[in-house]
Amino acid sequence: MVEEIVNEGRVKLHRFNPSGREIWTVVGSRGDQLVIESQPYCTCKHFHFAVLGGRDETCYHLSAVKKAKQASKFVKIEIDDEEYGRFLSMLASDLPPDLV
Ligand SMILES: [Zn+2]
Repeated sequence: MVEEIVNEGRVKLHRFNPSGREIWTVVGSRGDQLVIESQPYCTCKHFHFAVLGGRDETCYHLSAVKKAKQASKFVKIEIDDEEYGRFLSMLASDLPPDLV
């Protein structure tokens, strides 16, 4: 599953300019999920229920980002800072406050 996602180029790094802020997303089975590896954080349901609920360590989106970084195999997208707000609201409605 994780291997497939990485090999199919479904891990994306969105780089905002000129701030240089970086946002990772993974196109999973239920659409694009926003992943923050350092937190860790993911917008998927599994992360919210199983990981935050203490029943699982991680979700496959987080694993995919880790693997993609190791393999340097991801799609890099450059975006203007002006698009940041719109980009986030497109991905999720309940983001960690320090992100917005
Ligand atoms: Zn996830």
